[in-house]
Amino acid sequence: MSETQQFQVAADCPQCGGGIEFEEEASVIRCNYCGSALLLGNRQGVVRYTVEPRIRVEDLNRLVTRVIYKQTGRSITRLLEQRSLKAPFWRIRGNVFRWILGRRKTSGSEAALGATAQYEKDLKARWLDFTFPAYQKPDVGLYSLGVRASVIQLRYFSPSSRDHEAEFIKVDVPVKQALLRGLRAMRAGLASSKVKQPEMERIELIGERASLIYFPLWVVSCAYPRGSATLIIDALGGDVLKAWWDGVEKVQVHSGAWLDKAAGLGPVQFLPFRCPECGWDLPFHPYNTIHVCRNCHRAWNENHGRLVEVDYFAVDPPKAAKHKWAFLPFWTFRGVIVHRNHRVENMAQLLRLTVPPRVVDFQAEAQNPIRFFIPAFKSRGLSHLNRMAHILVLRTPSRSYIPRHRLEEKNLMGVYLPQEEARQMARIVVFSLIPAGNRQARQVLGRGKLELYEPCLEWFPFAVSKHNYTEALSGFALARNSVEVS
Ligand SMILES: [Zn+2]
Ligand SMILES: [Zn+2]
Repeated sequence: MSETQQFQVAADCPQCGGGIEFEEEASVIRCNYCGSALLLGNRQGVVRYTVEPRIRVEDLNRLVTRVIYKQTGRSITRLLEQRSLKAPFWRIRGNVFRWILGRRKTSGSEAALGATAQYEKDLKARWLDFTFPAYQKPDVGLYSLGVRASVIQLRYFSPSSRDHEAEFIKVDVPVKQALLRGLRAMRAGLASSKVKQPEMERIELIGERASLIYFPLWVVSCAYPRGSATLIIDALGGDVLKAWWDGVEKVQVHSGAWLDKAAGLGPVQFLPFRCPECGWDLPFHPYNTIHVCRNCHRAWNENHGRLVEVDYFAVDPPKAAKHKWAFLPFWTFRGVIVHRNHRVENMAQLLRLTVPPRVVDFQAEAQNPIRFFIPAFKSRGLSHLNRMAHILVLRTPSRSYIPRHRLEEKNLMGVYLPQEEARQMARIVVFSLIPAGNRQARQVLGRGKLELYEPCLEWFPFAVSKHNYTEALSGFALARNSVEVS
């Protein structure tokens, strides 16, 4: 669900050794030299990158001489010491959702009429993307890499190919703290204009990705007629980030053999992009997270370097309707909400806590489990998707499935949302079910824990018209231009 600028990643093709360049978010890439399609595996933890310096050691003399001349007017400079440092930066990204529930803001005239305070709910969503130092010391005068995305080229960090010249500054800001800091930075931007006094809120960072980028620096101490100085130089752009003009400064750095443990996971892998069952090439879609084999119709998901089969179904469209159908994917789960000793596990219990969309036969609904349907296609309208998931959970559509051998000609759209993100989305959907004024619902749905079982993928038929995709069972319409088709 990323919406912002991406860094470029450079790597060597494991098949032919040719240089490949691709967007950071891609999960399938192709080598332009030998044509191999490769699946990037084992990216579930913190992915580590390094940035190669563009200012080389032999460029330093000229660069420093120019800086010193500009600052002091003296033209002879002698380098006393130069060190190559790699400074780690956290890069935190994800969608932040904030549900706020509380008393409504009332206008002056309403207040004058003695209107009673009403409850209001407000959902805010924003894309979070920021970088900051993953270390506390030393202060090298660089606090973010954000604005440099277009010029930075990343390489996967691998302990075996580690640049031996450089000292790596020790990471001492843990990833949990980094994520919290990211959320806190966002909160201010997600204030509600409707809710006066927030009494309850739910903040979720969905699809969070934390990566560590080692950024290259030079620390140079130099002498010039009647003075000496120490400079910290951005080894990519050549800017002086920090300088001590009154003598040589010792820049203390904590570094060490901590590197391999920092992420807790092995390096990123390049896997052959073939169906593990029948050996056919899988369809090449760089941003899809589920890959459906065109030959044997099995669906695959990459998990820690292996392709694992995923259960899926495609829902049969109504026979009578003569439409052109597009099939959009949803993650489905059976859900249970647990709050202290209270378990909400069937539709009757859930519908009692929310605003039912129709007359409810509670006896019949007590037989039905709670099913979540979380849109898994790529879309720009996040609140819209939440709305759709909200409708579908209250009104589980009855449906029959197309047998696999008939799937050949069907237009199954790509799955963009990983299962883990769908699980996080479901928590936002639960919060959206709370009727603002209902105290018990606030307690149970607002504070309860959501357990999800039986994950599965389902492709739902949508009637294609000039401007919309209209879901066949609920009638929910999506603007065509809000859905990114792949
Ligand atoms: Zn190649
Ligand atoms: Zn296959």
